[in-house]
Amino acid sequence: MDPYRLPKIAFPSRYDITLRPDLDTATFSGTETIRVTVGEPADEIILNAIEIDIEEATLGDRSLSTSHDPETERIRLSDGAQIPPGEHTLSLRFSGILNDKLHGFYRSTFTDADGRDHVVATTQFEATDARRAFPCWDEPEYKAVFGITLVVPEGLLAVSNGAEISRTKLDDGTIRILFSDTPRMSTYLVAFVVGPFVATEPVDAGGVPLRVVHQAGQERLAEFAVEAGAHYLRWFADYYDIPYQGDKMDLIAIPDFAFGAMENLGAVTFRESALLVDLETASHGEVQRVSEVIAHELAHMWFGDYVTMKWWNGVWLNEAFATFMEMIAQDAWKPEWKTWLSFAPLRSRSMITDALQATRPVEFPVVAPHEADEMFDVLTYLKGSSLVRMLQRFLGEEVFRKGVETYLEAHAFANTETSDLWAALEQASGQPVGSVMESWIFSGGYPQVDIGLDNGSIVARQHRFQYRPSGDGDLWQIPLTLAYGAGDVVHRTDVVFDTPEIRIDVEDPVNWVLANAGGHGYYRSRYSPDLLERILERLDRLSALDRYGLIDDMWACVIAGQTDIGAYLDLLTRFGNETEHAVWTAIVESIRQIHHTFDPSPAFERYVRDLLTPAAKRLGWAPHPEEDGLTRRLRGLLISALGRYGNDGQVRARAIELLPAVFDHTLDPEVAQAVINVTADAGLADYETFFSEYERAETPQDENRYLYALPLFPDRALVERTFAMALDGRIRTQNAPFVVELLLANRSASRVAWDLYTHHWDDQVRAFPPSLLKRTLGTLWTLSDMADEVHAFFDRRTVRHAEKAVTQELERLDAMAAFRDRASEQLVVYLTE
Ligand SMILES: [Zn+2]
Repeated sequence: MDPYRLPKIAFPSRYDITLRPDLDTATFSGTETIRVTVGEPADEIILNAIEIDIEEATLGDRSLSTSHDPETERIRLSDGAQIPPGEHTLSLRFSGILNDKLHGFYRSTFTDADGRDHVVATTQFEATDARRAFPCWDEPEYKAVFGITLVVPEGLLAVSNGAEISRTKLDDGTIRILFSDTPRMSTYLVAFVVGPFVATEPVDAGGVPLRVVHQAGQERLAEFAVEAGAHYLRWFADYYDIPYQGDKMDLIAIPDFAFGAMENLGAVTFRESALLVDLETASHGEVQRVSEVIAHELAHMWFGDYVTMKWWNGVWLNEAFATFMEMIAQDAWKPEWKTWLSFAPLRSRSMITDALQATRPVEFPVVAPHEADEMFDVLTYLKGSSLVRMLQRFLGEEVFRKGVETYLEAHAFANTETSDLWAALEQASGQPVGSVMESWIFSGGYPQVDIGLDNGSIVARQHRFQYRPSGDGDLWQIPLTLAYGAGDVVHRTDVVFDTPEIRIDVEDPVNWVLANAGGHGYYRSRYSPDLLERILERLDRLSALDRYGLIDDMWACVIAGQTDIGAYLDLLTRFGNETEHAVWTAIVESIRQIHHTFDPSPAFERYVRDLLTPAAKRLGWAPHPEEDGLTRRLRGLLISALGRYGNDGQVRARAIELLPAVFDHTLDPEVAQAVINVTADAGLADYETFFSEYERAETPQDENRYLYALPLFPDRALVERTFAMALDGRIRTQNAPFVVELLLANRSASRVAWDLYTHHWDDQVRAFPPSLLKRTLGTLWTLSDMADEVHAFFDRRTVRHAEKAVTQELERLDAMAAFRDRASEQLVVYLTE
């Protein structure tokens, strides 16, 4: 028997669950009645439960005994006699704990404005932790209706998936709250939250009442979420052309939350910074993040909740699709945010991991559910959504939409494999979607397309892009969009490029060629030197995404050893007139990587100042009244980069002068964020002041700004202090791994940080759940000057549920170390020329 899949003997159709959480003792007790259909005569009933004591189990009027198997997280129920096929009622009485590991049924705490401490009981079940709250068939395929009842102390707010339909005061003073039945859905989507919360007045979201649930005093911070949530819920119902299946929608801010948010049907839980925001003081990026997370979760109400993957191998599609949907929904709502431009750096992030030999196919077989934990990474969210975007552009937006609608209708309240979506899209489009997507989904990596001219023909060659080429002959079916100028005419050609080489004969002389025109393809382009020069000559006529791609692709080729760093830095000097925020993020990202890889060099700092100062000067320090959000954001980016990587004395001095205005909230939020980072990074701000601002922050965004500035301080003693706080609970577990990650990337103190990291490894394993521990690895690549030591450390350890991530981060570190060896000399030569 597969120890990870329940035997297909009994099938639940309905659960009636009553839970009594005790917030003071961090325990709960519960009863449940499950309607089960047994398909064939059975000796026992097997279902999932872990860290739960079963006090009583009955099947109809038969009393069953329980045996636990903690290894497989199952219980077996039997009375020794056979269970006949047919409908049965299974009743269980049980108790469990409210843990502090941010999964299952868990405790979260907060301190209110008056300094009083409060406890919240809340849930996070994906992937396999519903079994920590109630015994169940805890696999996505076992969909059922859930009738939830919570018994809670008076005065607390209780929320579950369905709307509250009755409340009764019991003799012991507690309140019994009954919630409406859920639609048929998977166990991982069940949720309950109990705590001293308040809810906003319900607003109408296309016939569905929507509220935001939060701590008292946070009312103002919920306004944007109410607006965005109501908008997106209506928008998705319209896009999918299918009504939302729940009877209400609550968006709930949880003080301690491992992920960004969780798409529990009708009761979506969020970390506070992903839901609550003050439009007056938040930066453009912070507001956009809230919008995107809300859109993402609400997109899941259909794609994920209504139609669900059969097993965890399909979780990538769930997440890739919701990420893609968050982008198109936001782009439709706020076109001025240029969402697909801001998506470009996210695509680039996945292309870094995916250029490693240790990358993985987007979809892979999952045997144990915990293997799916490794799927929650950039490849699933960002490569996956990039591929969906490429496919949507290839098929056409309306054809794609229609295919998705067909897919959802065909599998309503049921479960699917990835191929079911391709089939629906094939039906809608008449295109070979399955075979095109197969080459992208089932093998890791992506292609590079080399473009050149040969006797008047355009020649494109594809081969895999890697930092360390493995020489394999993988071919992709690339939806290639070529734009080229021939004679006086601009042409556009769309072809599925599935051979090693393709030639396009053009009658008139070709002046220029752009591969991946429009910038939505998931591949890199490299041009022959003469073609590159011709593209640069018409730089001002390229779209912003094409300009972004030109920089990002060339930078990747520098890391991979295909291009000299001098040629790249020379290319950047052609972008002095650039005004688009996203294009500058590509430039600044490469500068950041150089800053973290090579020894500090006044010549490089001068290069950074020469490159960025003209653009920064054009913008000045204060926004103009009618300036758009992205221009404001660009100002912050340039100030931050000049202060941090350009060692710019003037910028730093001005930043210190502006600090009082930051504390008063009278400065533009983008400039404020930059000032905080620049002054912390240079060690010019007062750590104590930043720490107290962090502690007394009134918005999650303000809290994060000061918190994530603390690890930037270069002073050794402060690095030690910040590290200690990440482990002793003064920094919430949900944020602490990010703080550690930033400490490792502290250019002035990486040696100290690494020693602390290794010395306290076991403490971190104890303090951080595996999914969070993994987040400390993201900046290992900055340690290229101690690569051997980092390798030696991880060679002696297995990092549970993150083995793949460790291998990937070590290979990236190697790639950066090789780059450092190769390019140090080139960099000196270029900068002294
Ligand atoms: Zn998601």
